[in-house]
Amino acid sequence: METTTDVVIVGGGVIGCAIAYYLRKSHVSVTVVERGEIGGQASGAAAGLLAPLGPLSGPGPLADFLLAGCALFPSLVQTLEAETSLQLGYRQTGALRTVRNPKRIAHLKKRYTSWLPLGLEMHWLSGDEARQLEPQLSPDVCATVYAPAEGQIRAPQLVLAFAQAARQQGAIIHPHTEIVGVETTGTSVTGVRTAQGDVLRCHTLIVATGSWAALCAQWFHVSLPIRPLHGQLISLQQPSPPLQHIIFGEAAYLVPGADTLIVGATREETDFQLAVTEEGISWLQDTARRLVPTLASSERTAAWAGLRPKTPDHQPLLGPLPGWQNVLLAAGHNSIGIMTGALTGQSIATLLTTGQMPQIIRPFSVERVLPSERLFTK
Ligand SMILES: Cc1cc2nc3c(=O)[nH]c(=O)nc-3n(C[C@H](O)[C@H](O)[C@H](O)COP(=O)(O)OP(=O)(O)OC[C@H]3O[C@@H](n4cnc5c(N)ncnc54)[C@H](O)[C@@H]3O)c2cc1C
Repeated sequence: METTTDVVIVGGGVIGCAIAYYLRKSHVSVTVVERGEIGGQASGAAAGLLAPLGPLSGPGPLADFLLAGCALFPSLVQTLEAETSLQLGYRQTGALRTVRNPKRIAHLKKRYTSWLPLGLEMHWLSGDEARQLEPQLSPDVCATVYAPAEGQIRAPQLVLAFAQAARQQGAIIHPHTEIVGVETTGTSVTGVRTAQGDVLRCHTLIVATGSWAALCAQWFHVSLPIRPLHGQLISLQQPSPPLQHIIFGEAAYLVPGADTLIVGATREETDFQLAVTEEGISWLQDTARRLVPTLASSERTAAWAGLRPKTPDHQPLLGPLPGWQNVLLAAGHNSIGIMTGALTGQSIATLLTTGQMPQIIRPFSVERVLPSERLFTK
């Protein structure tokens, strides 16, 4: 293992790999250290929705971040596919946000009104108009918001592409290497310690460990409010003819691929255990069939789970770790890490190479979740 590098990134999910990719574009020497497989946790489990409206309730910093994050994809995908020969499955399939209970129409209308100022193309459709677009939608779907620009990507492929392209451009990537602690001098980190007992020296440390970021923050005596939110997903065979659009019900969503579609996802407060349960699978199957009854005869092809890195305000934690001179945090992306991974990577690379915090990530600083006395202890 190489023992000195400018930047060590702990965590080989979409966030760590995207940061490494953009740092290499600026010729910074960088090593990514991942405990398991690259993309083996939340990033590889994600459904791959590039559908920014869902988490939003109007304009604001999160809307700016999500919309700018999604806007990077058309050209980014072209570049990454050319650099790696991987197929990322990026498609602007459009999304239908549906309600089946007439009493919920007013709620959807309110959300639609709050989304209008965001400037994304959107149409309010009756149930019948929605069924013209997607004929297998349940007959009880009574109102829909149609957003043609929303889309999808194959999340596991995206992470692999960032990692492969970063590696091709000189990044060092160590899977199956757990970091168990840090070496420090005063308020600076000088290196990280692996479970095998090696020390990897660095000038800057970036913690990009998703749901595990709060555990890593203990190395710095910082208490971070990031918790895992367990999510189960299944895939079903596409019905014939296949569904074309992403379909959101009020509790679950369907993401259509060529032969199969993803149904996601449960939301379960949990510890760090990953589990696929009969209860979770049944709930996903039943919810999918209520949205699209023809799915009753579709076979299940897979089931899996991941841990969303959840924060109390559902927004990520990005930037310097208060009290430390050379430690950055990029974690807590909740359900939006695939949509915003590239922009996070770009922004953290800019922060590191220019010393300036890009405006787009300023609202997500780590300070906002730390008690004020913590900010003055070092
Ligand atoms: C069910 C589900 C569906 C989702 N769907 C979507 C979606 O459609 N669209 C979207 O935008 N987002 C989605 N997300 C959210 C998205 O997956 C996450 O926000 C994103 O993957 C977080 O990326 P990350 O790199 O921070 O975390 P992770 O991918 O979890 O990566 C963190 C890595 O750090 C490693 N690590 C931890 N501790 C250590 C250590 N001590 N040493 C070395 N390595 C360590 C872990 O092994 C892990 O690989 C979904 C998430 C889930 C669970």
